Parts: sequence; C-alpha cells; structure tokens
Amino acid sequence: MKLLKERILRDGISLDGGVLKVDSFINHQMDSSLMKSIAVEFVKQFAHLPITKIITIEASGIAPAIMVGYLLEIPVLFVKKATPKTMADFYMTKTYSFTKDRTYDIVVSKQLLQAEDRLLFIDDFLANGNAAQAVDNLVQQAGASLLGMGFIIEKAFQEGGQKLRALPDMKVVSLARIKELGNNKIVFEEEA
Ligand code: 5GP
Repeated sequence: MKLLKERILRDGISLDGGVLKVDSFINHQMDSSLMKSIAVEFVKQFAHLPITKIITIEASGIAPAIMVGYLLEIPVLFVKKATPKTMADFYMTKTYSFTKDRTYDIVVSKQLLQAEDRLLFIDDFLANGNAAQAVDNLVQQAGASLLGMGFIIEKAFQEGGQKLRALPDMKVVSLARIKELGNNKIVFEEEA
C-alpha cells in the first residue's frame, strides 16, 4: 500500500532490536484518514470471505479493527489482556509480547466468541506471530473459524509471516512488508 509505505518512510523511526516506532500515526497518535484508507484496503482483500466478526487484541489492534468492522458492518471483538471481574466464563491462553518482553494471559468471553463465528483477525504489527497464534488458539477453543489475518505492518525479517502463511486455509495479508530495519534505514519487500 503506497500511501502507508510513504508514511512509514516519512514518520517511522527505526529503533534498536528491530523495532519500528510509528507513534505519530498508529500507536500513540492516530491518523484517522490513513487508518480509514488502511481499512478500505483490508476490505478489498477480505470482502470475498464469509466473515461475520472481526477479532483483534487490545490495545493497538482496536483502531484498525473497528474501521474494518464499520465498513463491513459486522461486530468487532477485542481479546483482553486482563480478566475483568465482570467476566464469568472465558477462554484463556498465554502469549509472549515482543515489545514488552513478557508473557501474559489473554482472555475472551465465551458468550462473545462462539462456534458459529467466522473471524478475521486484524492487528497493527506482525513480528514473530505470537499474538496471532494466541488469538487462533482462543478461536479454536471456541470451535469457531479464523478465515484470515490482516496486518498493517509486517516485519518480514522475523518468523511470524512464514508461520502464519503455513496455516491451512488461512489468508494472511500485510499492507507493508519490511525486509530490513537499520540505523535510519527502512527497506520494504518488493510487491509481488
Ligand atoms: P508478534 O506477536 O507478531 O511477535 O508481535 C506483534 C505484536 O507486537 C503487535 O501486536 C505489536 O503490538 C507489537 N509489535 C511487534 N513488533 C513491533 C514493532 O516493531 N513496533 C511496534 N510499535 N509494535 C510491535
């Protein structure tokens, strides 16, 4: 996605350890028009699938997810990183956070994730694929189906993309694929 790549080159900051900081337009302050264009692109890529619900994980996945859900006119479910006292019955799994370097439990209500749901997972980044695999695990616990995964930015030099694209019947789309992050250097994969 040309607009997104131009913005990453203009405002993205490459940090040590293969981390890309996009706080000025995605992760802290959001550019709502860019987010809308991102959602339109996701809709183009996934609209042919019989999706009934968007699923994401708090917090940074929520913004793109809600834009996609709004355009497709379907609900947006976000997996929580803490168990609210009000949630009685839930599916739980563990995931490792790349940016926070720790493992934590994530939960989703059994009432809101059900066997008949056909889901599209949306998130901001794909790195090692831990968040996406953990969400896939929750979906499987519910007996529901995960039909696709859409990421704004994929760091293609990490292993997540390869792992997720190997899942059977899974459409994985990343709108900007970065092959190299260095000192003041951001290099994208060529588009197929
Ligand atoms: P994964 O689970 O694929 O290893 O990592 C994906 C999650 O980690 C994303 O939800 C995102 O919040 C965070 N993340 C991974 N890499 C980066 C990065 O380079 N920059 C930012 N801002 N977040 C990242």
